Amino acid sequence: MAIECLVLGPSGGARLLLLLLSLSPTRVDPSRVNAIPVDAGAGQDVGKSCVVATIGGRRVMFDCGVHLYYKGRRSYPDFERVLAATGAADFTAAISCVVITHSHLDHIGGLPYFTEVCGYNGPIYMTYPAKALAPMMLEDFRKVMVNQQWEEGQYSHEDILRCMKKVIPLDLKQTVQVDKDLVIRAYYAGHVLGAAMIYAKVGDAAMVYTGDYNMTPDRHLGAAQIDRLKLDLLITESTYAKTTRDSRRAREREFLHAVHKCVSGGGKVLIPLFAVGRAQELCMLLDDYWERMNWKIPIYFSGGLTIQSNIYYKMLIGWTSQKIKDSCRMHNPFDFKHVCHFERSFIDNPGPCVLFATPGMISINAGFSFEVFKKWAPSEKNLVTLPGYCASGSIGHKLMSGKPKRIDIEGTHIDVRCQIHQLAFSPHTDSKGIMNLIEFLSPKHVILVHGEKPLMAFLKERVESELGMPCYYPANNESISIPTTQHHKMSATERFITSCTNEQTKDSLQRRKLFCGSNMSEANDDEKLAEGTLLMEKNKALKILCEDELVQLLGMDRHVIQYEPMAASRIAAAGELE
Ligand SMILES: [Zn+2]
Repeated sequence: MAIECLVLGPSGGARLLLLLLSLSPTRVDPSRVNAIPVDAGAGQDVGKSCVVATIGGRRVMFDCGVHLYYKGRRSYPDFERVLAATGAADFTAAISCVVITHSHLDHIGGLPYFTEVCGYNGPIYMTYPAKALAPMMLEDFRKVMVNQQWEEGQYSHEDILRCMKKVIPLDLKQTVQVDKDLVIRAYYAGHVLGAAMIYAKVGDAAMVYTGDYNMTPDRHLGAAQIDRLKLDLLITESTYAKTTRDSRRAREREFLHAVHKCVSGGGKVLIPLFAVGRAQELCMLLDDYWERMNWKIPIYFSGGLTIQSNIYYKMLIGWTSQKIKDSCRMHNPFDFKHVCHFERSFIDNPGPCVLFATPGMISINAGFSFEVFKKWAPSEKNLVTLPGYCASGSIGHKLMSGKPKRIDIEGTHIDVRCQIHQLAFSPHTDSKGIMNLIEFLSPKHVILVHGEKPLMAFLKERVESELGMPCYYPANNESISIPTTQHHKMSATERFITSCTNEQTKDSLQRRKLFCGSNMSEANDDEKLAEGTLLMEKNKALKILCEDELVQLLGMDRHVIQYEPMAASRIAAAGELE
């Protein structure tokens, strides 16, 4: 008969060690989970996501993004720090596996660089749709690198192909045994087609890394779904750590009202977005509206990117919301009637139109959205709608923080007379959703990543005071060590087992507990309580035996020491004597 005992850290338990890259040199203790956000990555920042977690000696890299605001090697996570922190000779030895949560560039853009330039050759996992969408996203980013004439850190088209060949696709809820100890599983995260939350487990130590997620369904994707898991650690994104959003319908009405006002006045609408995700959501909304209004005003997608991703959306309809799945038997909702391809020469065309252009948030250094913005911003008839979140340093961020009349960038002056509308649409969960997920999973510890420092501090307070869970938000380079649960298997002698079933033992123990004022009186009446000695011998399994057996084993005589409780009056008397 085996008895399972629960041993909790820090004294004897295993620990999770988490590393949000940029790492400080840290020796990795296999008995902890250690997490480090990599330089300018997910720690107290929304940029390149990359978190390395060490669980029971296994090291998992969650996401491998780029920061679109930087150029060259600086835009990648500081991978070298992984080697410095682990002392490993190369990345394949340092990292047990890489898991990518979704195909947005801030989560995947650094992957070809890590595999083909840095030489990581171990397993890489992502969901089927993420794998399908990734080459398009990466190829788009590669063009940005070429346009910006990066002097270092570029990867080639062939690098993307070679990297993607190494990717092992994941299905939802599929349990994957990475090696004999490490298990991973993907859960539906909403957010973007193929986005997943990742569960990782080594022995009894378990954690979830959410990546980006949405707790409410939108027009085309369902809400995040996860099992109630026993977790030592939850690492959650916290982009909207303080925001509670209005209902989706109200947000949609507001957006349509702004677009309607602009195009009916003959203006042009620029919607800078990432290729995958929100574009599909907003297109569905506009396509419906155009149909109702019977408008012929063109809606354009810039480049082939979004049209291409629409093809994948159609193919991977099983990953969308239930409503879409049901309706697509009649008509594929990604077959947009009013949407057509945009040519560069259309920029100066007269008349109203709507244009979806990448990248979102309008990067300063590159991207078609920047080119169009330069042309359209000076007219007050036009409208620019910005996504809910724009990284600091981007034009989007400048436009959102006060309405500048003029923007000066790298020698270019742009007069900004157009209307600015901030989209309340976001594929990220709001603070209510984050709190709901944390409460639902009830992990022993929470780490916040992918957020801004003051907002994270606010959310940490809420998690600790309202949910009573220790919560951290490490900066990049900062390593956090979390105690984990560990179960030990041990055998018991026959005599000990017999003693467990002996009613007398239970009675005598309960009497003893009452006498000592033990708080174990809540024990269920059906539970058999027994007292034994745990024997730990080198190279042997743990064993529980009775006291008599121990005395016999040690070849010793039994000694009995009796204690007599001292009455309070006698203690006082003894004090007086001194
Ligand atoms: Zn994302």
